[in-house]
Amino acid sequence: MTVNKCQELNDIEECVNSNRLYHSDKYHEISEVEQTRIQKDLLDWYHVEKRLTMPWRKDNDLSWDRQALGQRAYEVWVSEIMLQQTQVATVISFYNRWMEAFPTIHDLASADIERVNTLWAGLGYYSRAKRLWEGAQKVVNQLDGLLPNNAKDLQAEIPGVGRYTAGAVASIVFGQSTPVVDGNVIRVLARIRAIHADPKKAKTIDLFWDIAASLVPQSKPGDFNQALMELGARVCTPQNPDCSHCPIQKDCRAFKQLELVKSLSKNGFFAEKKKRKQIEIEHECSTCHALDTNLVEDDYTVTRYPLKVEKKAPRDEECAVSIVERISPNKEPLYLISKRPETGLLAGLWEFPTLELTSLESKYNERVKGSSEYLKMRYGLEFDTTPHRQDLGNVVHLFSHIRKVYHIEWIQYEHGKDLDDEKDVKWVTLEELKISPIPTGLKKALKLLEKYKTTTSTPLTKKTPVKKAPVKRTIKTEDTPTKRAA
Ligand code: SF4
Repeated sequence: MTVNKCQELNDIEECVNSNRLYHSDKYHEISEVEQTRIQKDLLDWYHVEKRLTMPWRKDNDLSWDRQALGQRAYEVWVSEIMLQQTQVATVISFYNRWMEAFPTIHDLASADIERVNTLWAGLGYYSRAKRLWEGAQKVVNQLDGLLPNNAKDLQAEIPGVGRYTAGAVASIVFGQSTPVVDGNVIRVLARIRAIHADPKKAKTIDLFWDIAASLVPQSKPGDFNQALMELGARVCTPQNPDCSHCPIQKDCRAFKQLELVKSLSKNGFFAEKKKRKQIEIEHECSTCHALDTNLVEDDYTVTRYPLKVEKKAPRDEECAVSIVERISPNKEPLYLISKRPETGLLAGLWEFPTLELTSLESKYNERVKGSSEYLKMRYGLEFDTTPHRQDLGNVVHLFSHIRKVYHIEWIQYEHGKDLDDEKDVKWVTLEELKISPIPTGLKKALKLLEKYKTTTSTPLTKKTPVKKAPVKRTIKTEDTPTKRAA
């Protein structure tokens, strides 16, 4: 029998009594009574529970002058873009460093993009840092240094500002009653309205925005939006929602369904399969999809919302990375790095010579050959004497859509002459390398080299002993954004 899950869950009690089920789009709407109650309960909870450890979370007053509100808008904008990358706890230190370097939008606008990328390194998605920088320049050069004070203009005029960021800045800083929808909000709304549909589909996303818009109050819209996100991050979590401490439990359909199922179970409903099959279904919901299902009691948990859709597995890519270390006449090691193209993955960052591989080249001997040719062709690099070459193992880095395996090789050689830097290619000291904007995956590669050097001497350098000395290993890193996770 084909049934619609939310339909079945919604009216299951009625079903038992009448053998008939009816479910329509109205099931997802918020009534006026619910709206008022949710607004009040959530704001009351937030004013007691809100986390004050976030440096961007400050009181702001709508009576402030436009300059002061503009400064707050800049701070919230930066924090919101960073929070699209990773968790709150991680963002705090990045945010503090950023604000120390670029305390105002004017400082950011006049900064060098290399410096911007350096401060962003570790957050992933460098294109967002670039758009922040471009946005700051537009605001300073064309908008008198002031970010627009409403969601529509923010989204229309500022590079990289989408509907979510525009709503967050406009509501939090300028008190505009406009909604926000991020991953946490989607989870809460899917549960309180029992929306069992693909949350990535445009129609479902539109529904979330409509519900969020129907909830956001005229008074304190910024607090309300932050409360909704905070509830998702701390109470209505993906795996273990704490329903017993949830301020909006009484308006949550997922929770009600669970309670109902418990009581039906006591009355033996789930044992009577025959009776369930007699139920007549009338389905008019245009969002939740119909499923062929025969749910058992254990299926009825609040975590069935939002609907889980299978993620496409990231594709595998491999590359050969050469950490080329030149020992100069004064014995100081210098490392070869070059700048990536201005568009595409890791745009504008610096990297060690990196050769994309086919699977046929994944053996070390084959990579050595390929890398040598690449170093000669791309960098004009030929060695006067035989260099010391060492396979250091792998670094695996996960982007949202790519699983990248970096095969790391260290090439150490001596060179008596100075080599000139060229445009987008340079030789840097270890200290310079460590503060260069290079991707996280390659920073891990450098750590492999440093660890290796603690155990082994070469004809050109002595080992640098430390207590522990792992030799080869694989390090996994991740660059997958989690929208406003805890
Ligand atoms: Fe989430 Fe539970 Fe609260 Fe519903 S009652 S919103 S499922 S925490």
